[in-house]
Amino acid sequence: MTERIQRVMVITAHPDDSEFGAGGTIAKLTRDGKVVTYCILTNGNKGSSDRSMTPERLAKIREEEQRNAARVLGVETVDFLGFPDCELEDTRETRTAVSGAIRRHRPDLVIIQNPHRTKLLGASHRDHRIAAGIALDCVYPLARDHMAFPELMAQGLEPHKVKEVHMMWWENPELVVDISETMDLKIKALACHVSQLKDMAAVEKRIRERSAELGKPRGYAYAETFEPIVIDR
Ligand SMILES: [Zn+2]
Repeated sequence: MTERIQRVMVITAHPDDSEFGAGGTIAKLTRDGKVVTYCILTNGNKGSSDRSMTPERLAKIREEEQRNAARVLGVETVDFLGFPDCELEDTRETRTAVSGAIRRHRPDLVIIQNPHRTKLLGASHRDHRIAAGIALDCVYPLARDHMAFPELMAQGLEPHKVKEVHMMWWENPELVVDISETMDLKIKALACHVSQLKDMAAVEKRIRERSAELGKPRGYAYAETFEPIVIDR
């Protein structure tokens, strides 16, 4: 990663999305001295099949799990925007919140999910698509333009230009990141999401197989893949 990228923000829908899609890459970035921040739009409070669980209790558990996972990868700051799980909508409120996070942390690179519906149903969860769409609209033009959301300026949040966006991408990806050296950290971070993992061994097996498949064309043991958008060289 070049010198022009110093600050990175990962914007996702749910606690655990960053680790699943980009955990190995995030560990590499923090090892390289980049400052990585998470911005998570929903509180993940529907992700349980336990009938005795309540949404309030689950939101608290998932926040704690996410902070633990972030720490494993060297991510110090996690912004929880707290919108309800599975009910994320692209509204003025959600766009203001994400634009505010971008202006506050001023990332050079923003990593997001795939905004498109694909055949990978789990990966193209509606919250993921909506979060990615919101993030792109906030990168350009909403976080950049001083007259968008005057209330942010009133809070001292000056406009900010993001230089590059990486979308998590699996079909003919342009960017293949070698995560062979950080794969173990990715697995360790994923294992922090205890409430989401009934069978961690099965998840690990699936993740390793998938990452190996993505790395194979480039000769990497494990990879994560992205589609980049370069805004400002
Ligand atoms: Zn998710």
